Amino acid sequence: MTGTETGPVGHPPRGHTHGHLWLLPDGTGLHAPYGQLAVEAGTGRVCCHLCGRWYVSLGGHLRTHGHTAESYRRTMGLCRSRPLVAEALSRSIATRQSAAYRRSPALRARLAVGQQLSKSGQLATLAATAQTASPSPELARLRRAALDAGRATRAAQRDQVLARRLRELGFDDLAGYLRHAYCAGASLRSLAKATGLGWVRLRRELEAAGCSATGADLGSEALRRDHGGCTRAAKAR
Ligand SMILES: [Zn+2]
Repeated sequence: MTGTETGPVGHPPRGHTHGHLWLLPDGTGLHAPYGQLAVEAGTGRVCCHLCGRWYVSLGGHLRTHGHTAESYRRTMGLCRSRPLVAEALSRSIATRQSAAYRRSPALRARLAVGQQLSKSGQLATLAATAQTASPSPELARLRRAALDAGRATRAAQRDQVLARRLRELGFDDLAGYLRHAYCAGASLRSLAKATGLGWVRLRRELEAAGCSATGADLGSEALRRDHGGCTRAAKAR
C-alpha cells in the first residue's frame, strides 16, 4: 500500500472522544490532518499525527510508533523531503533562499507572492521535491500554490514592464496615457504595441480610462484625422 491510496476523512469518528479529528482509511486515528505537518504557533514545534504530542524534531520519537521517518511521511501523505523538525529549522533554510531572491531585483515580485510559502519553509520543500516521481498529497497542494504564485508573479512582472514603458512615454499612470493616446487617434494596435498589453486587458483599461473603445472605432480613418481633439474621451465620460 502506498500513501497515495490513503485519503483524509472529513468528519470525526462517531463515538470517539479521545481527540482524533482525522482518520486513516484503516481506522487509525490522527491528531493532525493527513497530508499536512501541523506546526504549533509560537514555538514552531511539529505535531506527531499519531499521539498528538509536539516535538522540536519527530525523528527519534517516531520509533516509539514503529515508524521510520520515511514510512511516517508515506503513511501521513507528506512530501518525501518534508523536514520533520520545528519550523525555526525549516525557516532558516527558507530565509537563505529568500535572501537570494532579494538580491535579485527581477525576482522581488516572486518573493512577495511567495512569502507565505517561504515563511512556512514550503519553498525549501518544494525545491527539494521538484523531481519527485509520485507526488504526495502535500506536494500536490504545494505545487498548486506555486502555480498560483507563479501566475501572480508573471502578472506583477507585466505590471512592472508596463510602468517602465509608461514612464518612458512620460506618463505616471496607464489611464492618463490611454486617454492621451486615444484622443490623439492612436489605433488599438499601436496602443497594444506601446503598452505591451493584450487585447482583452487593453479594452478593459480603455473602458476604465473612460474611453469606451472598440477595435473598429479606434482604428478608423475618421478618428485618425481627429488629432488633438478630445471629443471622444469627453463624450465617453
Ligand atoms: Zn507520537
